[in-house]
Amino acid sequence: MTVAVIGAGMAGAAAARTLHLAGWQVEVFDKGRSAGGRMSSKRVGGHYLDLGAQYFTARSDSFNEQVSQWRAANVVSNWPASCYRFEQGQLRQSVDNTLRLVGNPSMQAPVKALLADIAVHLDCRISRLSLVADKNGQTGAGWYLFDEHNQRFGPFKALILALPPVQLHTLLTTAVAADDAADHELAPILNQLQAHSQALLPCWAVNLQLDRPAPIDADAIFVKEGNISWLARQNSKPARDNKAENWLVHFSPQCSILHLHAKPTQIAALAKAELELIFDLPLSVTEAICHRWLYAQINPAVCPAAPDYHPGLRLAFAGDWLKGGRVENAWLSGVAVAKEIITHG
Ligand SMILES: Cc1cc2nc3c(=O)[nH]c(=O)nc-3n(C[C@H](O)[C@H](O)[C@H](O)COP(=O)(O)OP(=O)(O)OC[C@H]3O[C@@H](n4cnc5c(N)ncnc54)[C@H](O)[C@@H]3O)c2cc1C
Repeated sequence: MTVAVIGAGMAGAAAARTLHLAGWQVEVFDKGRSAGGRMSSKRVGGHYLDLGAQYFTARSDSFNEQVSQWRAANVVSNWPASCYRFEQGQLRQSVDNTLRLVGNPSMQAPVKALLADIAVHLDCRISRLSLVADKNGQTGAGWYLFDEHNQRFGPFKALILALPPVQLHTLLTTAVAADDAADHELAPILNQLQAHSQALLPCWAVNLQLDRPAPIDADAIFVKEGNISWLARQNSKPARDNKAENWLVHFSPQCSILHLHAKPTQIAALAKAELELIFDLPLSVTEAICHRWLYAQINPAVCPAAPDYHPGLRLAFAGDWLKGGRVENAWLSGVAVAKEIITHG
């Protein structure tokens, strides 16, 4: 049986790998130029800069087992970061026992490893879905996918949408528009999804390359006040052949929402000012790279309760947002829906 997975982030890749290992034929589609989704890194001058997820943790037994396999394949390493907190205007060391993991040589490496030997269509934005009717005219016999150029893929017996909820809702709406019968089956699902449109909040990310190493001991700073939430010295991560001093700034959700439509130059200037305030030093920036994540991290005020598998339609949802955010939960979500499909056939 063939299954289509839309979204080659951690959730989609984990679902695709689970199905592939169970002997199913899988095709994965992603609008990005490489797999990884919110774990994507930007290649600049031969080095990777992580603009999305900065590290991940492993708490469950099953994910720890997966991490062991990645470790054996040299796809992930520990990041023994010297961590600090910035609060009440003070920078203080913050010691904890958290084992922080990063991909080698960039955050998307474990996602790419999961997709090895699987057919992946990159640079392929799926813009429309259509349910296949069986010979009695009933929907549920499968799915067709259409890209932006109206190229059709399928039919696929089952479909996994491993997307943030807003993108998922938009895509599923196209199936309703194409087919009256689908309306009846999909309307309640779409209503539920609507309630989760705020499940992921935006984040402006800025990488600032400095002209010299910052004279502070910190590799990572949890910022507890003001406009930003996180700072990381990218060149402190293992397996990055990057000698230049690069600091990654993540703005808080509130500030990112406030400046959602700001120009990158404005955001870069704000990032430099914030870094100078926290380091208490004037800094010289040689290059700034900005990226706006519209759907970044989980909104603690929204608690999705959407079922992630609809056996009648052979339609499944996967993503970090269904399990509380974070890389590990994206992986758990992808594995769980793939197992549902394998169980129900
Ligand atoms: C700024 C930031 C910081 C973070 N920090 C951390 C952290 O430190 N630790 C941690 O554990 N997690 C962190 N996260 C969260 C973590 O990145 C996510 O939990 C995880 O990567 C989500 O994976 P996913 O597969 O659910 O979704 P995504 O990675 O968003 O994957 C969805 C994929 O769908 C594709 N797509 C969307 N629409 C279409 C379409 N129409 N057609 C084709 N493809 C489509 C996208 O291109 C994308 O690749 C962070 C995220 C961000 C953005």
